[in-house]
Amino acid sequence: MADKYEVFEQLGDLEKTLTMTLAQVAHIRQVLETSITENATLRMELEKLRERLAEFEKKEVKKETPKDQPNPNLIQIFNEGFHVCHLHYAERLAEGESCLDCLELLYR
Ligand SMILES: [Zn+2]
Repeated sequence: MADKYEVFEQLGDLEKTLTMTLAQVAHIRQVLETSITENATLRMELEKLRERLAEFEKKEVKKETPKDQPNPNLIQIFNEGFHVCHLHYAERLAEGESCLDCLELLYR
């Protein structure tokens, strides 16, 4: 059996390693969180541009504007847990949270 000093030394090493690993996990979590939010923001920006482009193209060919349908891409982003409303734009929804502003925007 290893002497007490050796055991404590090993525990100390293990503790250091675990602390470093935890810090790495926290960092990776933060990076992932940031890129997920950024991704949602970009997809919403893309939707806005698509809508603007569609408006623009309709004007070009002078077609009648069809009845407004809920935007399926925005619905998907909302269902993935992000606000699509202007007030909380691209913020994460809390677990089980809903938002009247988002629903109003999607289904008005
Ligand atoms: Zn919202």
